[in-house]
Amino acid sequence: MKVLVAAPLHERAIEVLKNAGFDVIFEEYPDEGRLIELVGDVDAIIVRSKPKVTRKVIEAAPKLKVIGRAGVGLDNIDLEAAKERGIKVVNSPGASSRSVAELAVALMFNVARKIAFADRKMREGVWAKKQCMGIELEGKTLGIVGFGRIGYQIAKIAKALGMNLLLYDPYPNEERAKEVGGKFVDLETLLKESDVVTLHVPLIDATYHLINEERLRLMKPTAILINAARGAVVDTNALVKALKEGWIAGAGLDVFEEEPLPKDHPLTKLDNVVLTPHIGASTVEAQMRAGVQVAEQIVEILKG
Ligand code: NAD
Repeated sequence: MKVLVAAPLHERAIEVLKNAGFDVIFEEYPDEGRLIELVGDVDAIIVRSKPKVTRKVIEAAPKLKVIGRAGVGLDNIDLEAAKERGIKVVNSPGASSRSVAELAVALMFNVARKIAFADRKMREGVWAKKQCMGIELEGKTLGIVGFGRIGYQIAKIAKALGMNLLLYDPYPNEERAKEVGGKFVDLETLLKESDVVTLHVPLIDATYHLINEERLRLMKPTAILINAARGAVVDTNALVKALKEGWIAGAGLDVFEEEPLPKDHPLTKLDNVVLTPHIGASTVEAQMRAGVQVAEQIVEILKG
């Protein structure tokens, strides 16, 4: 059996495949033409968010039985074409939950204590002590929009920090809410009552610009917004206005409507926003877990 690893994969995942007796070939992000050349005799392909596994690639792989995505989103795989051929598609949706949650909490602290701003000023030789008055998170209310895998991990950390928890999710998991001491409320109540609002919903029609001008205006002028879900869950133009005009106090953003964020984007001009380049899942642990979970599923499918 032969497995094509078409994206960087943790060495432990490669070991799982080799220990199962598979022939492993590795080529980083081949384009469609090169992929077509490579897949002629492979039983499995492993990708990350790249490269694209198109219908043409699938058609050029007569032995292909499984496509593995080390990570979450499957938008680079032609699922319809795979289904038609009975090819299984596996991924590792929970592998990065803790990492994304920890980044969201890091962004909360960063905005609450103006760390990035302070660091920028230090490098300019400015001792900006007076401008760096912050707030504590203990005793504050955290509103979690989307109480799924990541939302739950955040809730566990927030509980340990002594924060109060408000939750919003159309499919409420009461048992987990009870475990973390959180209370489900409607979105309007969550936005009005939270000191920090953090977004962990998938990007679907119902969540496109979920946080728009009207909803930003419901938030406290002292509130912080964290988005480590998808950029388009927030209306960026409305957010820039909210941050400029003080409808909210600050924001921590890992995701953007346009990625990479353009160099001179208005967000880059604001001191009350902390920006990271979509690094929620970028930890050694998350990458290892994602790779190993996908490799194990592939072994099970090919050997089962
Ligand atoms: P999940 O499916 O476990 O949880 C999502 C939750 O959102 C579910 O409980 C669902 O019921 C809820 N939901 C659905 N529609 C909603 C709505 N209209 N309003 C409120 N809640 C709604 O997903 P997850 O693993 O927790 O991931 C959440 C999102 O985080 C992903 O969809 C992805 O976009 C994003 N993500 C970002 C990074 C990053 O690097 N920043 C990494 C991984 C995932």
